[in-house]
Amino acid sequence: TTFHVTVRPVGLEGGAGAMLTFEDVTHVEQVGQMRRDFVANVSHELRTPLTALIGFIETLRGPARNDPAGQERFLGIMETEAHRMNRLVGDLLSLSRVEAEERVRPTERLDPAALIRSTIHGLMPIAQEAGVTLQAELPAESVAIMGDADQLRQVVTNLLENAIKYAGRGASATVTLTGPTYEPRLRGQGVRIEVSDTGQGIDPIHLPRLTERFYRVDNHRSREMGGTGLGLAIVKHIVNRHRGRLRVDSERGKGTTFTIILPVD
Ligand code: ADP
Repeated sequence: TTFHVTVRPVGLEGGAGAMLTFEDVTHVEQVGQMRRDFVANVSHELRTPLTALIGFIETLRGPARNDPAGQERFLGIMETEAHRMNRLVGDLLSLSRVEAEERVRPTERLDPAALIRSTIHGLMPIAQEAGVTLQAELPAESVAIMGDADQLRQVVTNLLENAIKYAGRGASATVTLTGPTYEPRLRGQGVRIEVSDTGQGIDPIHLPRLTERFYRVDNHRSREMGGTGLGLAIVKHIVNRHRGRLRVDSERGKGTTFTIILPVD
């Protein structure tokens, strides 16, 4: 805990005294520290691909000047790094947009089933390439919730992309929609969207920190898969904006399930 202490002299009966005021600034300090950490993290994340790009530009000008095969290979790596920076900047923009709107209630009336179906459809090509099977279990009757369609599509996309990236060849990922039913955690009616995969799972010690910006279970693997480390932070903010709940369950060797509960008016 951090206090700001102010001392003021005061006149007292029979002499002089001092008045001490204690102001608890712990929260202010924490927010400041978090912002400094975030800026440091972003700078580091941007510098990594930039350093690679600068290095390869020098190589193309120098040692690889007369090596067409090498040039082709280096340009390929440069392209990958440039795409990584582009994704990072895109995710940073999404995050700041979602944060700015976090207190604004979403006003679109939408059917999560339609949104899930179209998101899965869009991700089929990358799932096929990665050897992961995508499926949906949707209720027969349509449901309506108030939400932001683009943002909820982003939630399902981020979770499925993670399942595709981390579950690995031969695994499957399923999106299940259920409800509306009474949800004690919402103290009201809600629908559930579960995104589960049959991958390697996540060690329980990581679960509480998973939605922190730039938190990765395996730094090397996330980078190799082109991850920015921001996907789940974006998911958390979007769920917050919808006044919903997010939970993660995972078992080593069995798979991971992300559950989102969204309120129904
Ligand atoms: P990233 O861009 O690194 O994927 P995310 O915020 O989307 O960032 O996810 C944070 C970390 O959580 C990932 O780096 C990965 O280690 C872990 N993770 C997320 N989803 C899964 C999953 N379905 N299976 C295993 N690990 C996962």
